[in-house]
Amino acid sequence: MSLSDTSPAELNVDAITFDNSYARLPARFYQRISPVPVKAPTLIHFNRALAQEHGLNIEGLSGEMGAALFSGNLIPDGAEPIALAYAGHQFGHFVPQLGDGRAVLLGEILGANDRRWDIQLKGSGQTSFSRNGDGRAALGPVVREYILSEAMHALGIPTNRSLAMVTTGESVFRETVLPGAILTRFSSSHVRVGTFEYFLARDDLEAIKLLADYVIDRLFPEAKDAANPYLALFECVRDAQASLVASWMHVGFIHGVMNTDNMAISGETIDYGPCAFLDSYDPATVFSSIDHAGRYAYGNQGKIAQWNLTRLAECLLSLLDEDQNKAITSAEQALKDFADIFDACWLDGMRRKLGMTTALNDDLAIIQQLLDLMKKHQADYTLTFRYLSDTVGVKSDISWLTATFEEDISWQEWLNRWHQRLDTEDQSVEQIVQNMHSVNPAFIPRNHRVEQAINSAVEGNDFSEMERLISVLAKPYDDQPDYVDYINPPKSEERVLQTFCGT
Ligand code: AMP
Ligand code: MG
Repeated sequence: MSLSDTSPAELNVDAITFDNSYARLPARFYQRISPVPVKAPTLIHFNRALAQEHGLNIEGLSGEMGAALFSGNLIPDGAEPIALAYAGHQFGHFVPQLGDGRAVLLGEILGANDRRWDIQLKGSGQTSFSRNGDGRAALGPVVREYILSEAMHALGIPTNRSLAMVTTGESVFRETVLPGAILTRFSSSHVRVGTFEYFLARDDLEAIKLLADYVIDRLFPEAKDAANPYLALFECVRDAQASLVASWMHVGFIHGVMNTDNMAISGETIDYGPCAFLDSYDPATVFSSIDHAGRYAYGNQGKIAQWNLTRLAECLLSLLDEDQNKAITSAEQALKDFADIFDACWLDGMRRKLGMTTALNDDLAIIQQLLDLMKKHQADYTLTFRYLSDTVGVKSDISWLTATFEEDISWQEWLNRWHQRLDTEDQSVEQIVQNMHSVNPAFIPRNHRVEQAINSAVEGNDFSEMERLISVLAKPYDDQPDYVDYINPPKSEERVLQTFCGT
């Protein structure tokens, strides 16, 4: 155990037991580096539910010990802090070296179901990958990632999670002076497409094989028994990405910066930089201030996932077959299949959003017709789906839908067509409503709410709004009548038009 001078007395070092598999890979995979201690760490939030789920010592971690540990001031026994090497295509342009410039992987734990989890500190100081950056994170982006990642988890979407937030007692300098903070990320691995690209750029085929074997062991053990384990690995990653990005589409999530370094091999959402949720529906929606050409627009996300997977396939070619022509043919086929797999995941989820449990030929047309109407009337994506079940069978208040779609005849026609489709389902009205509520959230991290929570935290050191939002978003599919205000889309003056990476 090593301690900086802010160490609390009598620390219980049993709070976390590490077992660090990535640190056992060759030295060229990472830099061994400790977090840079901070002046005055304060634990502002600790995710007790997550800690409990994985058998962590809650009492030991939630007080002074948590502040010391989650700031990087205390390196517990067994931790082997490392900054991971990776490269990546950013907006289509290859950067041969990125890496953890402001994060360190403290270590891995064996959590629930004996699965392995990374515990990573983000904002923990400079590493050899920092280039000109200060290695630090500002409070705003830390709060943002915490709220968004935990909301995604509650929505049922694979994501890295957030275990804790600390403020550092230090300032970071961006366009203005901001309070510094550190986020503790909890993830099933931080290997990215860009990790493979790092080694391809160095022609280090041995490392690519080691990394592929590592990923198979850790994330996709089912690939091991396949006739071609590396092709099976690629197919596993492809399927996980297809399902992930389809699930983003279902809840109206725009990642915003789908660079290959921000695409986890595990199929979890990572990098909550400029991400945002749709308010009104338009597939061309972009929030990110740096996405000038709309490369990462809402409606492009499936295509971009396929583009990123093509970069991964290039990295794996040497493993797919000794005969490179054969390797290319099988990679091309697997990539081509992505489109069908993604479309099937998307259609399946959209059917469920509309209460359909069977598959009929007309379904796609029904879904598309609704989306066209939503675009035409600038309908709020989340509320349209949440309220549609109110039109099924029982008499409920459908004034929001009526006001949104106005006197549009095609809206009435669409409703009739959809209701007739639901008549073919062998389900009671109650079942349909219940099913629809279980996949159409009432509560999403509305951009304006997230901004309000961040502003009170950053400007007023007031975390109450953040706490409220975290707790409301933990139950996105429940009605929560006490929090109806959090359902509403922004008023025109509240609309957030742009989001920022905040690095
Ligand atoms: P991101 O925009 O978070 O995907 O980061 C892209 C690259 O920039 C990664 O290599 C980061 O580690 C690095 N980076 C971002 N912000 C900082 C910072 N404040 N200090 C050092 N490196 C950074
Ligand atoms: Mg990143």
